[in-house]
Amino acid sequence: MASGTTPLTPVSELWVSATEVTSTQYDWYPEPDSGAVGWPEAWDVVRAVKCPSCRKFVAEEDEEVENPEWQQLKDQAPDEEPDVEEFVEVEAGACANPECDRFTEEADPSDTEVAPMMNYYYKLPNHHTFGPSDARKLEGLPLCIVTFGRGQGALEDEQALALTGGGMDLSWEICEAFMRLGFLPPAAFARVPAMAGKPRGPVDLWVLEGVERTGEVIRTQGERLIAFPDEMLTSAPRYRVIGDSDARAKESTLYGVGHGAYDKPEWTVPPTLTQDEARAKAIELNREYAEQDQ
Ligand SMILES: [Zn+2]
Repeated sequence: MASGTTPLTPVSELWVSATEVTSTQYDWYPEPDSGAVGWPEAWDVVRAVKCPSCRKFVAEEDEEVENPEWQQLKDQAPDEEPDVEEFVEVEAGACANPECDRFTEEADPSDTEVAPMMNYYYKLPNHHTFGPSDARKLEGLPLCIVTFGRGQGALEDEQALALTGGGMDLSWEICEAFMRLGFLPPAAFARVPAMAGKPRGPVDLWVLEGVERTGEVIRTQGERLIAFPDEMLTSAPRYRVIGDSDARAKESTLYGVGHGAYDKPEWTVPPTLTQDEARAKAIELNREYAEQDQ
């Protein structure tokens, strides 16, 4: 599948905030008599508008484009100043392609045929609002950006990605779409299938690099979670190890933090204990206290 033409963001610069995104079921086209609102009140697509004639993206903002006529006249008579303007003002939303027969003519955004197809969405993190320039980054991918509207409860003003095609495993495309919008791929879609000749080419390798990074992020999160109970038992609530080196640990005290509200058990770390041993002792004593509180 053809992919976007924007440069590939280095994987190290991608946000980690979409790694836990999953798919959510959503009925884009409710039955008219169901009472539920649909397009365009309930949701609308963020469109990347193209000129209907040359199929190039229209100008995103007002810009000045070199007038090809001026150049033509200058080539014919280099010593004369041509009788036309050298630059042409192109307004936002108009064709900026001087070779096109609709040059400087506005394109109708509603002619941009892109709409959700499958009854799912993939929520976009909301620390950023995605606009038409982001929609352009999805060029060639079977996904579009949707903004939810009124009557959508917690979804109102939120944005999501939605598939504009279906029928096969589109994990590669979903991962690529998230990465093109600046995120590491969601873990739920990261097991991209070996199919249709993939992996092939630099974009697929970029996606695989993103998948690897997502795996590393999840591993780090997992390691932190595994270490958490011991950390808690080392530092709270009764016995705590003071000191961050062996030398200090040997001089320090394991002490209770009740400050009068509890018995204040104190236990001086014998100088024969290392930091790790003092830590293990704190865990053991705190476990005992937790069990006694039952
Ligand atoms: Zn055009």
